[in-house]
Amino acid sequence: MQIHLLKSEEVDTTLFTKVVDFLQSIPGPIKLRFDQNTIISFEDEDVHPYLIRDKEDFEKKIMPKMETAQCSAINKSFPFERETVSWSVLFNKAAQYRKAKKIPDDEFVILLTNVANKQNWFAALDEKMPVNGFIHTDDWEYYIKCSPAFPIAYEVISLVLQRHMFDGLNDLRTKVHEVPIGCVNDFCQHKREIILKLRTGDVCENCIGLLNGKISLPELHHALQLLSSLREKMLFHQNMKKFTPLSKLLVDDKKRIFLSDFGNMEIKLRPLEKALYILFLRHPEGIYNSSLCDFRDELYEIYASISNMGDLHEMRGRIDDMVNTLTDSASQKMSRIKRVFEEAIGPDLAAHYYIKGESGQKKKIDFDRALLEIR
Ligand SMILES: [Zn+2]
Repeated sequence: MQIHLLKSEEVDTTLFTKVVDFLQSIPGPIKLRFDQNTIISFEDEDVHPYLIRDKEDFEKKIMPKMETAQCSAINKSFPFERETVSWSVLFNKAAQYRKAKKIPDDEFVILLTNVANKQNWFAALDEKMPVNGFIHTDDWEYYIKCSPAFPIAYEVISLVLQRHMFDGLNDLRTKVHEVPIGCVNDFCQHKREIILKLRTGDVCENCIGLLNGKISLPELHHALQLLSSLREKMLFHQNMKKFTPLSKLLVDDKKRIFLSDFGNMEIKLRPLEKALYILFLRHPEGIYNSSLCDFRDELYEIYASISNMGDLHEMRGRIDDMVNTLTDSASQKMSRIKRVFEEAIGPDLAAHYYIKGESGQKKKIDFDRALLEIR
């Protein structure tokens, strides 16, 4: 099964990449293709802006009352203009792309856009061609304190499953669970309900029955694995797993870093950051920032084993920059490493894994090296 993911102009590239990463994190028969080069934009005449006067207006037009009661504070400044497009415009974009790229009729084309739609839905498939769809990427900040990449990636899988659950188009609108039960097939007009779906990461027995014979078992298994890995990752990210025992940290032969007991989550660092991180892994006693330059040769060696790009001279230059105490380079890399761990597993667990120390003191990574495996 193929899914083609597209983005419209305003969708943040980092967000798009994250969604792609999530959906590719487990190998299997559901293949994701994405096209960073084709950027969908809307024509002026397609976009209908309307004015949101104040908070009350916002609640009425954007979030139904029952939702606002549960959402976090709205810190918009009023009035503002909200741009919308119609569903047919969104579906047409997907259809045009399908035609231009000669994508077969059984493959999905899903457009991610942060322009709202008139019905204010989060995601939908085209009734006439239910392999074309869209997902709205904005407004998530009102509902959850986590990256919108989680619900968006989740919804990609939901749309795919929903397409296979239903025979007719009428089905698609009537057989969803009107009252949300935490199944992938919950009626998802409102974003609040998607949070519940995300928390459970589940498909109910009934809906598994509907999928029977419509989707191959390996595909179903892969979809369910992706849903539950998203759920797991979101729980870590939201710091809900802070009491979980620490995971092993594995640096594999390609120098990729994995937390093997946390669903084999990969911690993605850039080559220089990785070299610095591995240096600190090797030195549990800690290193002063000011004496990093004494470890230059070891850093050269680690960096050379990670990055085979560029010539030796250039690579040495980058390491020399990093260990130069006159620049802030090493500290900046440490902050980014910290951020990557925090985003992945939440601040409490992350604190065991990143490089830390008071300023002027030795920096170190605290965790028990019995949990470390470097290949
Ligand atoms: Zn269900």
